[in-house]
Amino acid sequence: MSEHPQPDRSRREFLRQTASALALVLAGGGSSLAVATRPAHAVPVKNRAKIVILGAGAAGIAIANRLANRVEGAKIVIVDARRQHLYQAGLTLIASGVKSPDYVTSSTSEWLPQGVDWIDEAAVDIDPDAKTVATAGGKSIQYDFLIVATGLKLDFDAIEGFSLDLVGTNGIGAFYAGADYAERTWVAMDRFTDEGGTGIFFRPATEIKCAGAPLKYTFLTDDSACRKGSRGRVEIHYAAPSDNLFSVPIVHEKVRMLFDERGVKTHYGHVAKAIDPGRQRITFETPDGDVEMPYDFTNVVPPMRAPDVVRNSPLPWRTGKWANDGWVEVDQQTLRHVRYPNVFAIGDSAGIPTGKTASAVTRQLPVVEDHLIADIAGTRSMAIYDGYAACPLITRFGQLMMIEFDYKNNLTPSFPGVIAPLEELWASWLIQEVALKGKYRAMLHGKV
Ligand SMILES: Cc1cc2nc3c(=O)[nH]c(=O)nc-3n(C[C@H](O)[C@H](O)[C@H](O)COP(=O)(O)OP(=O)(O)OC[C@H]3O[C@@H](n4cnc5c(N)ncnc54)[C@H](O)[C@@H]3O)c2cc1C
Repeated sequence: MSEHPQPDRSRREFLRQTASALALVLAGGGSSLAVATRPAHAVPVKNRAKIVILGAGAAGIAIANRLANRVEGAKIVIVDARRQHLYQAGLTLIASGVKSPDYVTSSTSEWLPQGVDWIDEAAVDIDPDAKTVATAGGKSIQYDFLIVATGLKLDFDAIEGFSLDLVGTNGIGAFYAGADYAERTWVAMDRFTDEGGTGIFFRPATEIKCAGAPLKYTFLTDDSACRKGSRGRVEIHYAAPSDNLFSVPIVHEKVRMLFDERGVKTHYGHVAKAIDPGRQRITFETPDGDVEMPYDFTNVVPPMRAPDVVRNSPLPWRTGKWANDGWVEVDQQTLRHVRYPNVFAIGDSAGIPTGKTASAVTRQLPVVEDHLIADIAGTRSMAIYDGYAACPLITRFGQLMMIEFDYKNNLTPSFPGVIAPLEELWASWLIQEVALKGKYRAMLHGKV
C-alpha cells in the first residue's frame, strides 16, 4: 500500500524509445501479433456471392474491409443500427481519469469500405435454413455466407435493483456501459478515493469481454488512493464468481499475490445478484447462501450473453456451458459453424474457449477470411486459429503486465526475452499508450 514512484527521466526516455520501436513493429504488418494467412498482394477472387455480416463493431468492420479487398463482384452487406463506433479498450482509462470520452468514440461510417452496403438497422431474426436475416425495419436479406459479429449483450437487468441511471450516484460505477458511463464512473471513483470507505469490485459468472478489465480497475483504484495518500482510509474487496481470479492459472496466481501485497481482500464463489443503492449494499450468491456486502464505491460488471437475435436463433450451442448464454456453436480452429458450414462467427459472439478481446479478433480475422475465400474459390483452407488472446493487465498507473495466451493456457509473449508477461513494466504500459489504439485502427481498416 506504498506510494509508487515514477521511473527517472533517463530510464523513462529509454523505455519510451523501446516502446516506440515495439510500437512500430506492433502497428506494422510484420509483428508476431499479426499472423496473416493472406499473401501481401493476393489477387482478388471474382465471384457474385452474397456475404452478409451481422454487426459493425470491431470484428464486423474489420472483416468487411478485408473481404472488400479480396472478392471482386460479390455483394457484401453489413447490418448494424449503431452509428457510433467505440474503442472499448479505452473505457477503463476513462473510468480512471486518464482519458476523456472522445478518446474512444468515432462514427461507424468512417470505417466502412466503399462498395459495402450498410443497413443501419438491427437484425431481429436469423434463419440459417432459409439463409435469410430479417431486420427491425422489415427487410429480409438473403445470403450465401453469413458472418456473425454481433458482439455481446450487457445484461444489466440481471442485477436486481440496478439501473444505468444510477451510474455516478450513490457510489455506483459501470464503465462497461459506454464512454459517458465510464466518465461518470470516474467521478464516483475519484470521490471515493478522496473520502475513503469500502470499495467492492466483482465480475459476473458468465463469459465476459476483457476479463482483465475488472481486475485492472481494482488495481487502479488502489493506486489512485495510494497516490492521493488516502489508502489507509480505503478498504478494497474483489469478489470472484469461481475459485480463481483469472482463467489462466499462472496469471491467477500472480494477481492473487499482487492483491495480497496491496491489501485487496479476495472472496471466491461470489456472484452478484442484487444492489440496494439506498442502503449501499450488494447481495452475492455464495455456496453458503446469500451474503450482503456494504460499499461506498462499486463498479457493476453485469452478466454478458449473446445478443437476443443470436440467442433465439438456431446458431448457439445446444448443450454444454455455452448453450444458455447463446454463444455461437463454431469449430474453435476454423470459426466455421458446426451445423451450418456457410456461417462463421468472429469476435465476442463466438462460443470458443478463449478471452473475448479485440486482440483475439485480430488473429481470428485472417482465418475466417481464408476459409470463406477458399469456399468461394472452390479450394480448401488450412488456416487455424490457436485461441490467441491478449490482456494488457494494468496493475498501477504507468505499469502493466502484457498477458498473451492461447487455447491451452500457454503464455505466448510476442516479444519473448524482451517483454516478460508476468512482470509489471512501464514499457508494456507505453505499448498500450502508443501502439494498441493504432493497431486497433489498422485492424479495422483490414490491414492487420
Ligand atoms: C471495458 C472494456 C475493456 C476492454 N479492454 C480490451 C483490451 O484491453 N484489449 C482487447 O483486445 N480487448 C478489450 N476489450 C474487448 C473488445 O472491445 C471486444 O472484445 C471487441 O470489441 C469485440 O469485437 P466484436 O466485433 O465481437 O464486438 P463489438 O465491437 O462490441 O461489436 C458488436 C457490434 O454488433 C452490433 N450488434 C449487436 N446486436 C446486433 C443486432 N441484433 N443486429 C446487428 N448488429 C448488432 C453492435 O451494435 C456492435 O456494433 C475491452 C472491452 C471492454 C468493454
